Amino acid sequence: MLTDKDIASLRAIVGDDDVSVRQADLEAHSVDESWLDPHPPEAVVWPASTEEVAAVLRYANERDLPVSAWSGGSSLEGNPIPVRGGVVLAMYRMKRVLEIREQDLQVVVEPGIVYDDLNAQLRRLGLFFPPAPGSSDVATIGGMVANNASGMRAVKYGVTRDYVQSLKVVLADGTVVRLGSDAKKTTSGYDLKSLFVGSEGTLGITTEITLRLVGLPEAVGVVVAAYDELEGATNSVYETVRYGLNPSAIEILDAETVRVTNEQQGLSLAIKPTLFVEFHGTEASVQEQLGFLREICEDNGCATFQETVSDEEREYLWKARKEAHDSIKFSNPGKTMVSGDVCVPISRFGEMFPFVHDLARQLDLKIYAFGHAGDGNMHTETIADRSDPDEFARAHRATEAIVRRALEVGGTVAGEHGIGRAKREFLEEEHGASVALMRQIKQIFDPRGIMNPGKIFDD
Ligand SMILES: Cc1cc2nc3c(=O)[nH]c(=O)nc-3n(C[C@H](O)[C@H](O)[C@H](O)COP(=O)(O)OP(=O)(O)OC[C@H]3O[C@@H](n4cnc5c(N)ncnc54)[C@H](O)[C@@H]3O)c2cc1C
Repeated sequence: MLTDKDIASLRAIVGDDDVSVRQADLEAHSVDESWLDPHPPEAVVWPASTEEVAAVLRYANERDLPVSAWSGGSSLEGNPIPVRGGVVLAMYRMKRVLEIREQDLQVVVEPGIVYDDLNAQLRRLGLFFPPAPGSSDVATIGGMVANNASGMRAVKYGVTRDYVQSLKVVLADGTVVRLGSDAKKTTSGYDLKSLFVGSEGTLGITTEITLRLVGLPEAVGVVVAAYDELEGATNSVYETVRYGLNPSAIEILDAETVRVTNEQQGLSLAIKPTLFVEFHGTEASVQEQLGFLREICEDNGCATFQETVSDEEREYLWKARKEAHDSIKFSNPGKTMVSGDVCVPISRFGEMFPFVHDLARQLDLKIYAFGHAGDGNMHTETIADRSDPDEFARAHRATEAIVRRALEVGGTVAGEHGIGRAKREFLEEEHGASVALMRQIKQIFDPRGIMNPGKIFDD
C-alpha cells in the first residue's frame, strides 16, 4: 500500500508532474487488450531516464512496492496489468532514437518508441526492423523485447530476440547493467540478454535497446490464394516451407475470419479459407518464387490465386490482415474475446484447424482461427458473452482444449504473446520441472518479488 510519503518520494525523483494518482490515469493503466479484469495501480510514474528508473526501483525495492512496466498496453495475456497495485512505470515517454549506426546495421533506442515510428525513421536509410506484430502501430520496442514479440515476418526474419544486440537494464534494486554485446557474435559468458528478452518485466526494466537491422528488399510480391477446403491451404503452407521457398510472410485466415475482415475492412474476398503470402528479394527471385508458389497452390486445389499489382493494393491487404483481431472485435460488439496463441510444429499445423472448428461445434461457440501459418502459430478468438456464465466457462474450456492439443503435438502455449497472467496455469504443463529453475532465476534477479508480480508463475 503506497503512503503519502511514498508519493512524495516518487515526486522527488521524477518531478511533481510525472507522478499521478488521478483516477483517470490509474484506470488508463489498469488493463491491456486481454479479456482479464482491470486492476488499477496506486500511482503512475513517467520516468525520463535510466537514472530516474534506477532511483524509483531502488526506492520501491526498499519499501517492497510492486512495480509493473507499461509501454503500449497492447498485450493480450494481461502482461502489464498491475495486479498487486503499487507503481506503474509508464515507459512510453522514453521514446528517442539515440543513435543509428548505419554501417553496423544497428540502432540504439529508448524502449518507448513505437514499432511503426521506428521503421518510418529507418526507411529513409533503406533499413528496417522486421518482426512486424499485428499491433505495429501501438506496440513499443520495449514491450516487444519484454514479450519477445514477433508477427507476420517471423517466418523469414525471425523474432524480436534474434535482433536484440544489447540491452541496458535496471535491476530490482536499482543496479544498472549492460547485457549482450554490439559485436555480431559472442561466446562470452552466459547469455543474460536473451534471458531478459521475453521476461515480461519480471526481472528488471529495460531502458536502452540496441537492435540489429536489415536492408529493405528491392522487390515485394504478394499473393492472396483462396481454397474451398482448409486442408488445401494448410498443405500449401507445409509444401512452401518444405520445398525451400522463402516467404517473408505466410498468413492464414479461416472462412469466418475472412467474412468479418470483408465486413469491417471493406474488402470483397471470397469467403473461403485464405492464404496471404509475401516474398521479399530481387525482382527476379520474387517472380521465380511466385511461379513456384502458384504451382504448389494449384496442386493443392486453390480456387483463386491472385497476385497484387500495386503498392497501394498490397498495403491495403496487409492492413486488412493486420486488423483481423479488431475486425473480429467490431463484428461481435459487447462480447468478450478469449485469445489463444498456440504454436505447433509445422507438420501438425493443418490438423489444428479441424480440431478448433469441431470444438466450436461441440461447445456451441464462435471461434475464429487465423495466424502466422509459416511458423505454425495459430491465433484463436473465442467469443463469449460475459454476462452468461455458462458461455464464458465454455469459452475457457475451448481455450484450454486448444492449448492441451497443441502441447500434445509438441507445441507451445504461447507463440508470441507471452504467459502474462492468462496462461500461467499451463506453464508447468509445458515445462515440467524446469519451472523450478525459472523460479530460482526470478529469485536471483528479484529477491523481494517487486517486479511485475503475479505474472508468468502461478501464485
Ligand atoms: C490487435 C493486436 C494484434 C497483435 N498482434 C501481435 C503479433 O502479431 N505478434 C505479437 O507478438 N504480439 C501481438 N500482439 C500483442 C502485443 O501487441 C505485443 O506483445 C507487443 O509487443 C506488446 O507491446 P506493448 O508496447 O504494448 O507492451 P505492453 O503491453 O505495455 O507490455 C508488455 C510487457 O512488457 C513489459 N514491459 C513493457 N515495457 C518494458 C520495459 N521497458 N522493460 C521491461 N519490461 C517492460 C510489461 O510489464 C509487460 O509485461 C497484438 C496485440 C493486439 C491488440
